Amino acid sequence: MFADERIAVIGAGLAGCLVARQLADRGGMPEVFEKSRGTGGRLAAARLGGASADLGAALIDSKAAMHLLDARAQLPLEQWPHKRSDMKLMTCAEEEGWVPMPRASSLTRALLEGVPLYTETRIVALEEHNQGGWWLHTEAGETKGPYTRVVLAVPAPQAVPLLAASDPLQRAASSARMTPSWVSLLELPERPVKLAEVDVLEGDHPILARICRDSSKPGRSGEIWQLQANTRWSEQYVDADPGWVGQQLIGALSALLGESVKPDALRVHRWLYSNVESSQKIRPVSSCGSLAVCGDWVCGQGILAAVESANLLIRALETND
Ligand SMILES: Cc1cc2nc3c(=O)[nH]c(=O)nc-3n(C[C@H](O)[C@H](O)[C@H](O)COP(=O)(O)OP(=O)(O)OC[C@H]3O[C@@H](n4cnc5c(N)ncnc54)[C@H](O)[C@@H]3O)c2cc1C
Repeated sequence: MFADERIAVIGAGLAGCLVARQLADRGGMPEVFEKSRGTGGRLAAARLGGASADLGAALIDSKAAMHLLDARAQLPLEQWPHKRSDMKLMTCAEEEGWVPMPRASSLTRALLEGVPLYTETRIVALEEHNQGGWWLHTEAGETKGPYTRVVLAVPAPQAVPLLAASDPLQRAASSARMTPSWVSLLELPERPVKLAEVDVLEGDHPILARICRDSSKPGRSGEIWQLQANTRWSEQYVDADPGWVGQQLIGALSALLGESVKPDALRVHRWLYSNVESSQKIRPVSSCGSLAVCGDWVCGQGILAAVESANLLIRALETND
């Protein structure tokens, strides 16, 4: 149905890459535009010291992984049986999870095999072509196109200014609420004694939502930990200095362990649109059929919702539903 259609996909996160893959597999000619240097969005990896670690979602749950592997069996996903505890280190149980190999962004890279990708290209406006179709305007002042369709695969607040041509989609994106997360990656000189048997900690804590040993994931080494602040704390300090945030997160970990944590390397990142707090279910395609949205906020929240939104969109385009 998409044979030889030139389709622009804006956003190289999981949803955008999955849509691009499915369009390409159906004979379409998707081109992906991404404002960052690499792919993955909230499933991105970052350098720390000499290694690379996951900066966004720490792991993929089994249901989402099964959906992804159903879509493409050879995706670089590996099971990660890990030991999980609460923040008081009272309980510890083995749980299943999945991780992209060798790093988070490998998943989106694999999905985009053979699909043209333009990184460091932020799309700032869409212009409707008078014969149907779209031109894209980039932040650098370039014009790309024309495209028969445009798929916006970006977080709801970033979709709003690009959806002026569709009232219902713009209203839906405006009403979605997304919350921030501060994240810090630490390279430690050695594994903390109290965390010798634990890979992931989650639960009630005044500052932290999750502590994850990135180096425990399959194929990784070193002593890299990811600390994720909880939503309430991240919202309260959303505009704080990253250096200060890093020290607060290290302080919280030190207090929890009862020992002073002194990282050899530290990286702090603010995800302004980390999680979907609320959104409404929508038909993801505009009435003209050539403008569409996908991303976690379209189907709920989290990785599974991002996957479902890509599948929902392809179905809606195919059946004109
Ligand atoms: C710290 C953290 C922890 C998380 N933990 C979990 C978890 O445990 N379980 C879970 O299920 N989910 C978790 N999530 C959420 C999960 O990562 C997301 O739901 C999912 O990755 C969203 O994918 P997406 O494709 O919808 O959006 P994104 O990954 O946000 O992709 C959107 C892409 O669009 C790009 N973009 C935006 N605007 C433009 C523009 N104008 N032009 C070009 N490109 C643009 C962005 O740079 C980005 O790459 C977590 C997220 C974070 C940040």
